[in-house]
This record gives sequence, structure tokens and C-alpha cells, in this order.
Amino acid sequence: MGAKEGIIKFRYDHTRTELPPVFESKVAELEAARSVLHQKKYIGLDSNGMGYGNLSVRIDAHMDSLHTFADCAPSLQGGFLISGSQTAHLTKLTRDHYVLVQAFSLGDFYLQACGAATPSSESLSHAAVYLIDPDVRAIIHIHKPDLWQYMLDHAYPATGAVDYGSMEMAQAVQRLFDEGAFREHRALVMDGHFGGVIGFGSDPQNALQCILDLERVYDLAHRSDSE
Ligand SMILES: [Zn+2]
Repeated sequence: MGAKEGIIKFRYDHTRTELPPVFESKVAELEAARSVLHQKKYIGLDSNGMGYGNLSVRIDAHMDSLHTFADCAPSLQGGFLISGSQTAHLTKLTRDHYVLVQAFSLGDFYLQACGAATPSSESLSHAAVYLIDPDVRAIIHIHKPDLWQYMLDHAYPATGAVDYGSMEMAQAVQRLFDEGAFREHRALVMDGHFGGVIGFGSDPQNALQCILDLERVYDLAHRSDSE
């Protein structure tokens, strides 16, 4: 099974600074979704004490009030706000636990970030999904082994047996998009990353709904299986 969560494989530059207050409303949107996910243990700690699960929201470059925060603002291509590394065990996150990914390059396996926390080890997986479609504005990555297995068995968009956060993962996401795999499901299953499922949407609430819809389909199928 792929590398453990929490090990950061990409190169990054990180400006360790307080995330500007202008991001407070985005953090609140993320937290509204995250509190549901954490309660369901879709984000949390596994039996080995390893954290799993993370979420992010796209940040446009042209938010007016960002100009005054030159040391912690997105690049012209835009960026995203993502939960920090080593935060999965926490019930509630604050602005200090989120990181702004200001710029990234999948080709160079590199990202630039700012904030009090360290960017999630899966930041480049999020970046790969943001790159494929401007309508993707929020991404949730959870671990739920039974749903993961169900999605693999039922031909949901799957990345193939690639490592999380790898270049191959990014290429697989692009291939799925090109094939139109996301027209039916705004979600994908990460074969090479046990339990790993990604859902996305137009905002954090919409991405959460994507995860809850998957859960409902799984629950219904599971119930009829056992009858
Ligand atoms: Zn994961």
C-alpha cells in the first residue's frame, strides 16, 4: 500500500506567518463541512495514530482585500486554502490550522505556501483536481475503507494503483477528466491509497454533499446486500 499519510513528498517553500483575517469566512465554510466529516471519522486518526483526511477550498487571485497581504496572498493563477499537516485528530480547526497554497507546479512537484501550519501532505493531489476544471472550487479527501471498496467494485472513477500525492496520481486525474469520468460522479477513488476517496464540488458544502451522496448509495446497496 502506498506511502503513509503525513509524509510530505513534494518540495515546498513555506512562509510561516499568520494567515490574514480575510480568510476567516473561508475557514468557516471549511469548518462547517469538516465538523460533519470529523464526527463521522472520515477525517481523524487511524489505529496506528496516523492522521488521515483533509479538505480545501479554491481562493481566487482577485479577492480585493488580498492586496494588502502581499506576503500571504495567492498568485495570479489563484490558489487554495487547505487543512494543515498533523491536524486530522483535532475536532475543530482555526485559521492557524489552515495553509494557503499560493502557487504550485505539478511538473516540478513543487508548491509555495504560507500560514501558521504546514501544508497537508496531499496538497498536490488537491492541486491536480483544481487544475482540471475551474468549476471545482472545493475538495474533500476522506478515508472510508468500506465505501472505497464499494467504489472500486462499482466502476467509479479510479486513479489506478498510484501513490497518493504522486505525479502519476495527478496524471490519472487528468486522464479521468479527459475521458469524461466526472460527468456522472464528482468523486474519485484512489486505488493505491487504502480507504482514500475524494469528493469535490462548487463549495465546501457542495463537496460535503457529494461525500454524503456516496455514503447514501453505499448504505442502500449494503442494506439490500444483507437482505
Ligand atoms: Zn489519504
